[in-house]
Amino acid sequence: MRIILLGPPGSGKGTQAQRLVQRYGIVQLSTGEMLRAAVAAGTPVGLKAKEIMASGGLVPDDVVVGIISDRIDQPDAKNGFILDGFPRTVPQAEALDELLKHKHFKLDAVIELRVNESALLNRVETRVAQMRERGEEVRLDDTPEVLTKRLASYRNQTEPLIHYYSERRKLSTIDGMMAIDEVTRAIHRLLLALGAVEPKVHGKAHGKARARSAAKAGPAKKAKAAKKSAKKPAKTTKKAAKSRKAAKKAVTGPKKAAKKTVKKKAAKKTARKAVKKGAKKAAKKVTKKRAKR
Ligand code: ADP
Repeated sequence: MRIILLGPPGSGKGTQAQRLVQRYGIVQLSTGEMLRAAVAAGTPVGLKAKEIMASGGLVPDDVVVGIISDRIDQPDAKNGFILDGFPRTVPQAEALDELLKHKHFKLDAVIELRVNESALLNRVETRVAQMRERGEEVRLDDTPEVLTKRLASYRNQTEPLIHYYSERRKLSTIDGMMAIDEVTRAIHRLLLALGAVEPKVHGKAHGKARARSAAKAGPAKKAKAAKKSAKKPAKTTKKAAKSRKAAKKAVTGPKKAAKKTVKKKAAKKTARKAVKKGAKKAAKKVTKKRAKR
């Protein structure tokens, strides 16, 4: 799965991206986070980006395209990725198209999280308050003034991407004003319809726990765990359990009926037939369900 999340600051891209990482075992590539890391490390890219970011402007296209190009070549991005905060301009989108073409990668979906602008300031204020509560460092650009500038950058330079991807039949829009879980469900439904497969393991909790512990771990461990959870075959999916139940029903049902008949042999024969029929039906149901997926 290769997905782009599109939406203004505060639309919930980061939150949803993290949930997708846990669910599908793919990596989140956030240019914002990568740039913040570069700034913190004082790399040449960081030095270039620092002032621009603090003022709410956009870092030059060639810089972010370079970062993304290197990042999607890393082994942990092989299974797929969610781009969060990239592309942000039409030239970036064109560069990404070229990159993906060159690497023979297909872009599966561009998901726009649509929100009312009036709600964004509130959301960012809440985010800042929560970060303070957790004792985390607050982003320099999370102030009302810079947010206004970031919104303007979004409107002028990023919003045209909605048209860009809709023309290429890649765009899906989701109402980002719904509750977080509702948005997650909507994204999930959309990805299922596009043929996404959850690399789920022995029940949900297992995969989630692994992803959660991975989220706490460093990047290398994170990548390893994500890969591990992505590799595991879906052994105990809900559907499989359901079809097993159906098959069981088909077997126990007719057997019970047979007990009641006086002529045991005849009853057994009927039961056997019924079992076969029932199992066939169940099998058909399963194949139908599979075909629908
Ligand atoms: P948000 O989406 O909440 O505004 P991000 O964390 O994605 O914040 O990005 C923070 C800042 O990093 C942006 O305001 C911008 O200066 C810079 N940035 C991130 N991604 C890009 C990009 N693709 N192109 C240019 N600048 C970027």
